[in-house]
Amino acid sequence: MNSFNLINDIIQNNNKFVITTHVNPDGDAIGSELALARYLEKLGKEVRIINHSPTPQFLLFLLGNNEEIELFDSSKHAELISSSDVIFSLDLNQLSRAGSMEEELRTSKAKKVCIDHHEFPEEFADVMLIDTNKSSTGEIIYNFLINSNFQIDYDVALPLYVAIITDTGSFRFDRTTPDVHRLTAQLLETGIDPKFVYREVYEQGTANRIQLLGIALSSLTIADEGKISYMVISKSDLTKTETDEEDVEGFVNYNLTIKGVEVGIFFFEMDDVVKVSFRSVKKVPVNELAKRFNGGGHFHAAGARIHGLELKSAIEKVLNEANKFVKEYK
Ligand code: 5GP
Ligand code: MN
Repeated sequence: MNSFNLINDIIQNNNKFVITTHVNPDGDAIGSELALARYLEKLGKEVRIINHSPTPQFLLFLLGNNEEIELFDSSKHAELISSSDVIFSLDLNQLSRAGSMEEELRTSKAKKVCIDHHEFPEEFADVMLIDTNKSSTGEIIYNFLINSNFQIDYDVALPLYVAIITDTGSFRFDRTTPDVHRLTAQLLETGIDPKFVYREVYEQGTANRIQLLGIALSSLTIADEGKISYMVISKSDLTKTETDEEDVEGFVNYNLTIKGVEVGIFFFEMDDVVKVSFRSVKKVPVNELAKRFNGGGHFHAAGARIHGLELKSAIEKVLNEANKFVKEYK
């Protein structure tokens, strides 16, 4: 039986579902969760979406109500997670990326289904539906829903549309295939207004965020004869501009707007970890580079969290490794 049919069987034969995703969820993570949850609800199932991190501001317009996605609280949710029939982990293929929920997910007796499009999966689920050729987890969910003969309506189409536009960088990243455009057209047929969605997702930020971007851009440094570009944001930059974690979303991409740059890196000092975002054009597999620091991701877009190093040492260590990659993958 193929994975779609296995998942259909699991859905048919069970009633209590929990859906979760990775820490610092993006549009694909939240969009995929909402689309699947709304589908399951239409089938009359009990569904809870529970995440380690709060939903970022730019995605709140997708929520039907404040309870649609819950913030994980062990005292409130431990029992629910251990007694649910099925756990879906979406856009999440390594349980360590579930943050504080990792243990509850690992030890739950529920059937586990992982739907994702990243490389290097951990084999933790009963069904691992992983397709690294797909633009987004949202695209896989779309295909699953079509395969299940579900008539996709606006409520399900909207979060899927957001999943796809965010994970393809508005149809410019790898795996933006003709299929992606065709399925997006189908989603638009339900009445989605692209201008409205674009404004909600990308143009409702704060002035403080733009000030933080200014600091990031001023920190831009070119290394390795123009092949590496990197930027840095420290904790004090956030304090100074009264911004928070989610405000740095997308900053890393500015590195790649420079002619000749092949690897773009963004260093972000957080409370007890330095988050590093990697992007590349051409030949450097940044997921392999991220893996050196226990991270992962895609060939051209990856990330890692570095524990136990000061910002300055983390930068040195990563640049040193990135330099080797640039030399090796010419
Ligand atoms: P971003 O730099 O936008 O946070 O992440 C880019 C890509 O790398 C995403 O596909 C994301 O899933 C992956 N990624 C980011 N941070 C981590 C991490 O700490 N561990 C792993 N395994 N993947 C990450
Ligand atoms: Mn994704």
